[in-house]
Amino acid sequence: MQTIGLIGGMSFESSAVYYRLINEMVRDRLGGFASAELLMHSVNFDEIVTMQKAGDWDAAGERLGDVAARLQQAGASCVLICTNTMHLVADPVAARISVPLIHIIDETAANIKASGCRRPLLLATRYTMEHGFYTDRVKSLGLDIMVPEPDDRTTVHDIIFNELCAGQVLDSSRETLLGIIERERAKGADSIILGCTEICLILDPDGLPLPGFDTTKIHAKAAVDFVLGKQQAAAVA
Ligand code: GLU
Repeated sequence: MQTIGLIGGMSFESSAVYYRLINEMVRDRLGGFASAELLMHSVNFDEIVTMQKAGDWDAAGERLGDVAARLQQAGASCVLICTNTMHLVADPVAARISVPLIHIIDETAANIKASGCRRPLLLATRYTMEHGFYTDRVKSLGLDIMVPEPDDRTTVHDIIFNELCAGQVLDSSRETLLGIIERERAKGADSIILGCTEICLILDPDGLPLPGFDTTKIHAKAAVDFVLGKQQAAAVA
């Protein structure tokens, strides 16, 4: 089995979900005691958050690029950046490796398009909702992506960083997120992108008033498809 390379730690709360999902998917497909061959390099998130706050994306790209190169050198056949936000530096990271970087935005957009949805609402960090790297790429892939109103963007961002990345899952915040979804549904959203790899900790994508697309699960599945082959995945599904 080929080895999956994960750049984790952003935050470790979601890296743990990747680890479990990837292993469960491999076991489901291969049976018995099968589990994934994987390498995870988990970074110190505090360093990354400092770079995010300073807008020092060049330094962040170099840091994650170094990690990607080390994963490839250690035997990874593909690399995943286990966060939506840090796909802001996906290009410089991909430039450091010759194996594929499995891109969370492309995989998510492909899933949404296959479902027939066209107007997804993006719930994510402020960087992801506002910088343009995410929405522009999704638009270029043929979807009419929406983001919440400014105050709601602040709320979502704060729930992610102050609660989910800190291991706190509050019912009151779940209600708040569902309220935002209702407001955007009224404006025409036809689906929801759980566009932060921790949002699956608080929202069940299958329990929403609109179809939900969990980027953590979509990304993990793309890695498993890569190492096991899509044909096999299709045969088992
Ligand atoms: N894991 C989150 C994401 O998917 C947020 C943490 C980060 O800033 O990387 O965007």
